[in-house]
Amino acid sequence: MTVGKTKMRECIFCKIIKGTLPSQKVFENEHVFAFKDIAPQAPVHVLVVPKAHVEDLLDVRTQDTSIFQELFQVVQHLAPQLGIAGSGFRVVLNSGDHACQTIYHLHLHLLGGTQMGGSMVG
Ligand code: 5GP
Ligand code: ZN
Repeated sequence: MTVGKTKMRECIFCKIIKGTLPSQKVFENEHVFAFKDIAPQAPVHVLVVPKAHVEDLLDVRTQDTSIFQELFQVVQHLAPQLGIAGSGFRVVLNSGDHACQTIYHLHLHLLGGTQMGGSMVG
């Protein structure tokens, strides 16, 4: 089955969610999976991912937008657990080519543990 640019059976994040590709899992519930980024850009760099394969933000159908609530609820749960609730953190969602999205399975980056710069487009 082909979904947009990504064949589901070839999608790295689908494989991680299924457990056929290893990852450092930090959280899982019915709809969301979270794991450490393989190339962290901050001391804390976790990817928060819907279990259902959707390519990017615009691929989420209107009737399925509750997934955004679920993803951010997981961020609220994880921030204190990862020790970054007090110091602050950044959540990044890259969608499409200009945003340098590289994995076409929707995900939030949860970044923290360091003082970040002011630029968000560098
Ligand atoms: P994007 O650029 O699409 O917003 O972010 C994709 C992220 O996935 C990158 O930060 C990249 O380091 C991470 N990534 C790519 N392949 C793997 C992998 O196999 N395992 C893990 N844990 N992260 C990955
Ligand atoms: Zn996928």
